[in-house]
Amino acid sequence: MSLPPISKRGTPRVRPNLVDYHRAGREFSWDDARARLSGLPGGRGLNIAYEAVDRHASGASGDAVALRCVGRHDELTEVTYADLRRDTSRFANVLCALGAGRGDRVFTLLGRRPELYVTVLGTLKNVGVLAPLFSAFGPEPIYERLRLGDARVLVTSVDLYQRKIAGIRDRLPGLKHVLVVGGEAPEGTISFDRALAAASDVFDIPDTDPEDMALLHFTSGTTGRPKGAIHVHDAVVAHHATARFALDLHPEDVFWCTADPGWVTGMSYGVIAPLTCGLTMVTDAGDFDARRWYRVLAEQRVTVWYTAPTAIRMLMRHGAAVAGEYDLSALRFIASVGEPLNPEAVVWGQEALGLPIHDNWWQTETGAIMIANFAATEIRPGSMGRPVPGIEAALLERGPDGRARVENGRVRVITDGVGELALRPGWPSMFRGYLHEEDRYAKAFAGGWYLSGDIARRDADGYFWFVARADDVIKSAGHLIGPFEVESVLMEHPAVAESGVIGRPDPVAGEVVKAFVTLREGHEANDVLRRELIAFARRRLGAMAPKEIVFDQDLPHTRSGKVMRRLLKSRELGLPDGDVSTLESAS
Ligand code: ATP
Ligand code: MG
Repeated sequence: MSLPPISKRGTPRVRPNLVDYHRAGREFSWDDARARLSGLPGGRGLNIAYEAVDRHASGASGDAVALRCVGRHDELTEVTYADLRRDTSRFANVLCALGAGRGDRVFTLLGRRPELYVTVLGTLKNVGVLAPLFSAFGPEPIYERLRLGDARVLVTSVDLYQRKIAGIRDRLPGLKHVLVVGGEAPEGTISFDRALAAASDVFDIPDTDPEDMALLHFTSGTTGRPKGAIHVHDAVVAHHATARFALDLHPEDVFWCTADPGWVTGMSYGVIAPLTCGLTMVTDAGDFDARRWYRVLAEQRVTVWYTAPTAIRMLMRHGAAVAGEYDLSALRFIASVGEPLNPEAVVWGQEALGLPIHDNWWQTETGAIMIANFAATEIRPGSMGRPVPGIEAALLERGPDGRARVENGRVRVITDGVGELALRPGWPSMFRGYLHEEDRYAKAFAGGWYLSGDIARRDADGYFWFVARADDVIKSAGHLIGPFEVESVLMEHPAVAESGVIGRPDPVAGEVVKAFVTLREGHEANDVLRRELIAFARRRLGAMAPKEIVFDQDLPHTRSGKVMRRLLKSRELGLPDGDVSTLESAS
């Protein structure tokens, strides 16, 4: 499964922030990275919102466009840094007037509209804790998270309030205030627009300890019940540094991160990091649609684009010709995160979009990109890349349960083979806890490492290759098989758009590899194709090839876009689905 490396030839249009990988790593320190930020005036600490907004809002840079929000019907709203400072200060004053202060949880349940960004950054100004919810969640997952997260204030829209909150509100006695955006505020709620208009636009950010809690993020729930990861203001140091290194952001860029701020990617890189760079950020309130996305890229003259493998696979389904109809000449860098990026997709980017796709790896828990393919360095298709400067990553020997083997509090770093991916604690955006789950947090660390729960290998040059989530590894006839490798090979077949691979229990082999396959348009699911795919996979994978293939045009995805293999598996076994609150079709 190795496609040739993609080297970077010629002179790049923009000088990359990271030119020499090894040198950047040697010379890097988090203190230097912190010094690139301003800090609150008077040495009063470090506040995310100040770094993202206020420090760019005075003088000429205040007139620069911070947000260019594309509405559902293509209407455009531009918000300058000065506008954003004014409105976030107003919102911080609104919170103060409501008696919500330091540490109080403010939840959002809003589409990607300007008020969402104002709420996020205004809350951080007020040293409150922002907890974003994805607006497509149904009432139960919303209730669970509001309850778990001790919600005190919620900002939502009139429509979402009526459809999703009104019915659960009396079960949430701690939820004191609900502000609603757009339209007449229903009884028991406050009009966001009116409250904002009445508030003063002067707000002094209180002293902010870099360790003050800032964000509460629920994980995607791919492997089980979502966990609430706690992040602090110091995380902004990592947001900014990684945005420069891994996404190569420059102040001149027009940047689009397609992830919803309800997920960590949409917060770290869809709100905070790009604004700390002082650039123009594009947001789109619409849902995925291949032509819409190409149009946004073309019309907004997006230069740097951060998206997800599932989106790229969907674009691939529509074919390269569709991409060719749009002027994507402004685009200079594409990155992706969230799931393994199939080598085929990296190369497709090169062919269809004129640029390869740079995969990078991180988690809700890490708060920022940890491993990446960089603008100036060779891409190895299928690899997540190398640790960003400031990050030490290693592979740990695994025990019988497939996770790192911990003996007397010790672990063993391996240099060859497959191990649990671990990170040396101490980077600023590392999570500081799982809300209300201290034991679980403690168990995430051993022998001086944070244990990611992902299994990977590393090549001689230090590139990391994702193998599987520890829970997804398939053991078949003595082989250890990562579903991703099998899925990627299947995707090389022209009929295959996407697949999900699991191990089905088998009395002889332990497990046999079973693939659920979504076909591209124009291909018919039948036995001939099934046999062809099995033979195709066997030629490349030998014993690791799937023994069974099922056609399924509707694979279960999380709302953040990941294939939920655990669901394929539990359904295969006739077991209950478990927590499906983040399943795409649940609402
Ligand atoms: P949960 O922890 O609730 O099961 P989740 O792990 O999917 O959900 P996130 O924190 O959103 O929640 O996702 C992080 C995970 O996504 C990583 O641990 C990894 O398994 C996967 N991932 C992220 N980026 C990549 C990548 N580039 N290649 C492979 N896997 C990736
Ligand atoms: Mg996880």
